[in-house]
Formats: sequence, C-alpha cells, structure tokens
Amino acid sequence: MFRPKTRYVALPSPRAGVGEEIDRLTCPKCDTSLEPARLTAALGVCYRCGYHFRLRAPERIAMLVEPGSFHEEDLEITAKDVLGFKDSQPYTKRIEQSRAATGANEAVSWGEATLAGHRLVIVCLDFAFMGGSMGAATGEKITNGIERSLNNHLPLLIISASGGARMQEGMLALMQLAKTAAALGRLGKAGVPYFSLMTDPTMGGVTASFASLADVIIAEPGAMIGFAGARVIQQATYETLPEGFQTAEFLWRHGMIDLVVPRPELPAVLRQLLDLYTRNGIVKDFELQKQAKARAPRRASPVPR
Ligand SMILES: [Zn+2]
Repeated sequence: MFRPKTRYVALPSPRAGVGEEIDRLTCPKCDTSLEPARLTAALGVCYRCGYHFRLRAPERIAMLVEPGSFHEEDLEITAKDVLGFKDSQPYTKRIEQSRAATGANEAVSWGEATLAGHRLVIVCLDFAFMGGSMGAATGEKITNGIERSLNNHLPLLIISASGGARMQEGMLALMQLAKTAAALGRLGKAGVPYFSLMTDPTMGGVTASFASLADVIIAEPGAMIGFAGARVIQQATYETLPEGFQTAEFLWRHGMIDLVVPRPELPAVLRQLLDLYTRNGIVKDFELQKQAKARAPRRASPVPR
C-alpha cells in the first residue's frame, strides 16, 4: 500500500556558495580575498581568475548604456497574491521581504536607453528579487518592453538572471512563458532584432521562453543555464551528467548559445551587433525594404517551371 520513500542523491553545486559572495568578497572560485573598490572597477569580475559575480539590475544597466539614458517604465506594476499562496510563509510576506531587501518593486526593470548611439529597449531581470522569478507582473513588464520595441521599431535586449517561473503564482506564472513567446513571435515577424544575454543563473521557464528565442543569444562565462536542475535530471535519467553540464561554455559547444562574452567586452560586442543588425538604424532599413518592394516588377501570373 505504501511506496518506499524516494531517495535523493546530493550533487555538489558547480558554483557552490554563490549568492552571498558580494558581501563576503571572497572569490568562490579561486578563494582570493578581493578589494571591493578593485572588484567594482573590474565590473564585478574576479581580477585573479575571471569569475563573474552576479550583478543587480541597476548595476547591469549602468554598465551597458550611456549614462543617464535609461528611463524605467511600469514602476507601478507589481506582484499580487491572487492565489492566496502560502508555503513556509505567505507569498505576500515574501514579496514584502524582497522589496525591503532589494529596494526594487519587481524582479524586472525595463525602459528605453541608448547604447553606443543606438536607441534600444532594455529589459533586465534581477536575481536578488525572489530569485529573479517570473510571476504575472514580471511577465507583463517583459511583454510591455517587447511591445515597445515592436511599436517603435527599436532593437531589444533582454538580460536574464532567473530561477524560472514563480512557483507561488502557479499557472499564472506558467502562462507568462506563452505570453512573452507570443510577443516575441510578433517582434520576429516585424524583423526587429532581439538580443538575449543570459547571466548566472538562467533557469526553468525563463530559459524555456524568451531567453532562448533571440536572434543572437549571448552568455557570460561560467553562467549556469538550463531548464530543470542537474539533480532532477540525474534522478529522472539515472545517468551521470557530463563535466561542465549546464554551463554557458557547455551550451555554446552544443550549439544552444551563439557567443560567450566576458563582461568587460559586452558593450563592444553589443555595439557591433547593433551596428550589424540595424546598419544605419532600423527605421532606415525598413524604408529601404519598402522601396525595394515598390521597385520589384509585378508578375500577373506565376511563371510555370
Ligand atoms: Zn577568483
């Protein structure tokens, strides 16, 4: 009548101790004590071994865009406890705690900004706010960012740092996968370029939706990227997972990611991509396409072959 209890295997985390490392200022990879000022100057990359510390959304945006060019939108859209969810503590309490700890209203910020002379829409997730998880409000803000990009023909950059869909919102959170993917489908049809930057970690429903649907997918070195966690996969398949499984470099070798770019090189690489994809600006591109269509000779009937 009773089934034996499942026994779980404990796997060492590939990036043990990540999360509190900013306060401790000891590199979790090479164990060096780091000077805060030097680490900040190095954009949060360990100057001994190149380990990439996690960044908050405002730091990330400031690092990439021209100073003062970012204007945040949708500050009033915040999470609501529609289901009355409670695990070890009520969801409302978790939201309050996250707001107090981070000073942010939601796990995502978005707005228009300028990067190397290009106007674009930036959407940035913040892992410090409930693990960057995607609830209904998060999904709404991301979709609003995608729609601004579509309506104004501005290139889109989404920076992911997330554990996945927000479990406290159940199906409402899962619906955000379809919602963001559908909006990106419309963006793709309109020919507006979209770049995805995956940072540590990009997991679950975020990997399974908007983060993987870009024209160019970039990741930071060593970032953990995947859908289900390594432990779950190991238990389901009874297989030993390969070395470096679910790291940016592993996924790049297997064709899931286009580029692995160290943080200091990101602004230059993004500038090159924006130049390449928009040439003299996307609006001009659209005009050229229209002109080319107008010039093309019209056929009265299809030519038989
Ligand atoms: Zn280090």
